Amino acid sequence: MKNRKLLMIPGPIEMDPAVLRAIGEVTTSHVAPNFIESFGKSLELMRNIWESPKGQPFIVAGSGTLAMDMAVSNLIEPNENALVISTGYFGERYKNILETYGANVTILQAEIGETVSLEIIEKELASKDYKLLTITHVDTSTGVLTDPKPIAEIAQKHNTLSILDGVCATAGEETLQDNWGIDVVLTGSQKAIGVPPGLALLVVSERAMHVWKERKTNVQNYYGSFHNWLPIMTAYEERRPSYFGTPPVNLIRALEVSLTLIDKEGIANRVKNHIKYANAFRKAVLALGLEIVPKKEAIAANTMTAIYYPKNIDAAQFRKDIADFGVIIAGGLHAEIKNLYFRVGHMGAITKSDIVATLSAIESALEKQNYNFKSGVSVGEFLSNSN
Ligand SMILES: *Cc1c(COP(=O)(O)O)cnc(C)c1O
Repeated sequence: MKNRKLLMIPGPIEMDPAVLRAIGEVTTSHVAPNFIESFGKSLELMRNIWESPKGQPFIVAGSGTLAMDMAVSNLIEPNENALVISTGYFGERYKNILETYGANVTILQAEIGETVSLEIIEKELASKDYKLLTITHVDTSTGVLTDPKPIAEIAQKHNTLSILDGVCATAGEETLQDNWGIDVVLTGSQKAIGVPPGLALLVVSERAMHVWKERKTNVQNYYGSFHNWLPIMTAYEERRPSYFGTPPVNLIRALEVSLTLIDKEGIANRVKNHIKYANAFRKAVLALGLEIVPKKEAIAANTMTAIYYPKNIDAAQFRKDIADFGVIIAGGLHAEIKNLYFRVGHMGAITKSDIVATLSAIESALEKQNYNFKSGVSVGEFLSNSN
């Protein structure tokens, strides 16, 4: 038997075998010509996948939270106003990060399973001068998808920078950074990008780089300062050696492989596939009589799904039975509903058979608890909607 379980959580995710092989390659010097090429190529590929030919990409060792931290610590100055548009757990995190750097933070908190309305955002931006706002593209604690396009538009109108936390979205949900005028789109390597955890990835607009250059106060962050990293990114992109902090050589080589795969498939096709599988997966879950956390299909993420347990079920046993079947799913994350729901990631290099196996595991665990449903219904529903 293969000693390996299918990893169907909202990051880290199942990886393409070519990415895993790249991780296992010999570690070269961070200034070796082959590595300089990998780094430079990765920066160029980020521009394609972010759809931001004019943006400035950054690749820095750290998790997605570092990318969140870098975006705001470089752009906000003490006592400036920041608006957090929150659809769950990661909105709260952004509030905490911004407060660390002395920002006056207003948080617009959506009800669980809902998004914040554009009217409320517009009204808030009109009420005072906001330096920046943050949007969580997919909040991993609720599976709610926020459409960043109209929010970025309103932000531009009010001369406010827009920062998109795409940690559970970028390369899985449609993101046209330049076209939509989003100032920072950030993610971590272990989500839809399909690389092991360990890389903070950001693309910053020309406008935001200009705002950073014109700061009156110093960036209150040493490791994450653009002052330290911009010359490094420029050097690698020009295929010159450079050093500030040792880059994670193997991870960046794996990043190059994964970004190349996504680029070859075409980012638009990749997103289309996520939408198709997510739709079919939701139909399958609904066919079992289960409910999802997002209140409307239109705001349900295409990278993951948050699903309420049926009533009267032993949740711990349910998750254990799924794991024993060979599939790893995630429990709840949002504090208020933590014990009421579970989460399934279906992003990146995921295949039809991965999702079929996941649905079979869910059905098998439900059967063990005498939950009433027609056996096989979810797999059937998924297959008839995923062609
Ligand atoms: C996972 C996630 C993060 C945090 O990323 P880490 O790599 O765990 O630091 C931030 N925002 C969102 C939306 C996420 O899904």
